[in-house]
Amino acid sequence: MASTAKIIDGTRTAEQIRADVTKQVAEWVAAGHIRPGLATVLVGDNPASQSYVKSKHKACQEAGMASFGHVLPATASQAEVEELVAGLDTDPLVNGILVQLPLPAGFDEERVLRSISIEKDVDGFHPINIGRLAQKGRDPLFVPCTPAGVMYLLEKNIGSLEGANAVVLGRSNIVGMPVALLLVRANATVTICHSRTRDLADIIRQADVLVAAIGKPEFVRGSWIKPGAVVIDVGINRVEDASRPRGYRLVGDVAFEEVKEVAGAITPVPGGVGPMTIAMLLKSTLKAAQLNK
Ligand code: NDP
Repeated sequence: MASTAKIIDGTRTAEQIRADVTKQVAEWVAAGHIRPGLATVLVGDNPASQSYVKSKHKACQEAGMASFGHVLPATASQAEVEELVAGLDTDPLVNGILVQLPLPAGFDEERVLRSISIEKDVDGFHPINIGRLAQKGRDPLFVPCTPAGVMYLLEKNIGSLEGANAVVLGRSNIVGMPVALLLVRANATVTICHSRTRDLADIIRQADVLVAAIGKPEFVRGSWIKPGAVVIDVGINRVEDASRPRGYRLVGDVAFEEVKEVAGAITPVPGGVGPMTIAMLLKSTLKAAQLNK
């Protein structure tokens, strides 16, 4: 009889990281340093972005960190956004700056990100931090939070990735590509798949580790999975469900019920990668405070 996969509990892991950060923040402040502070910049009124930013402020508060929220309308100019970020960059109370992405259409995202110093780039999207991530022998000061959360779960649950065949489904700047770069740095052999990939199921069948980040509900099927593989599902998708009070439920990019019968370990949605993103952001903000002291 097939045994079902180990469920990788991201909620519990994130709670442990957050408890550890909270303790370290208290010690840092007790040692006479200023309270670590995160500034967020939200442009426009995208409801998902508003809700992510709200959760980040709540998490800072719970960890004993300061947080400073800045909101600009979608009609703000490129120069206004850059000036706001430049001001935060010289503010001694601000250790980390997070510009909530994506910016509304028309903004030059890279120029905005470049106006953050790499020492305050807690989201890891500054071109220098991303560039260093892609280069052998160079180390970024910060790496993007969701990819960092994926790696944390992999390393905690399966240990060394050396020589493993890893397949990353998705090549976005925010998730797929930085995950692939981190897996290469962990000495995995990495294949990146995207919307133009041929014979996707056959490639995925070779994977000892699969990271799925495409934003397509329950796209990856059980029959595509190598028995015993580790499956990290980054997708967060709403599907209609009249039985739920909100009228929808959240599912990943992986058909969880099928895949868990074949995989060795799998992250659920919700409760897998999702909670890790904020935990890694708090860890990075503390690191920024320690760097900027
Ligand atoms: P994007 O839409 O930016 O990128 C999607 C990627 O998937 C692209 O590279 C695209 O290929 C690829 N893709 C799309 N359709 C297919 C297909 N049919 N077959 C193969 N590849 C395909 O998404 P993100 O990376 O921003 O997000 C991915 C998912 O992760 C979403 O569900 C999102 O909600 C979730 N997410 C979760 C986070 C968290 O847990 N905290 C944080 C961020 C995202 P191509 O490049 O060719 O277009």
